[in-house]
Amino acid sequence: MNQEELISVAAEAIDKRPFLPKKHYHLCHSNGHLCCLPKKHTDDPHPIFALLTYGDINLGLTPAKWNDVGKKLKKFYKEATPCIQPTVRSKP
Ligand SMILES: [Zn+2]
Repeated sequence: MNQEELISVAAEAIDKRPFLPKKHYHLCHSNGHLCCLPKKHTDDPHPIFALLTYGDINLGLTPAKWNDVGKKLKKFYKEATPCIQPTVRSKP
């Protein structure tokens, strides 16, 4: 997957985030999926690619932030963990 494809998977994860009355989410790899979850969803250490504010979620990330996220995802999925695929959990 190239960086643009990874960014579109990340955008999908953000769209599928759980709707909770929390303002701060992060984009992370958790339980085998790329997820957008409330910042304190677990105490376990896990890879985090971006901290997302209320503005990021509702107004969209800036091109610079997407670029940064894309780079981190590419590094994680390609170099660090070649056996893990960037998939998004489907909505229950
Ligand atoms: Zn997380």
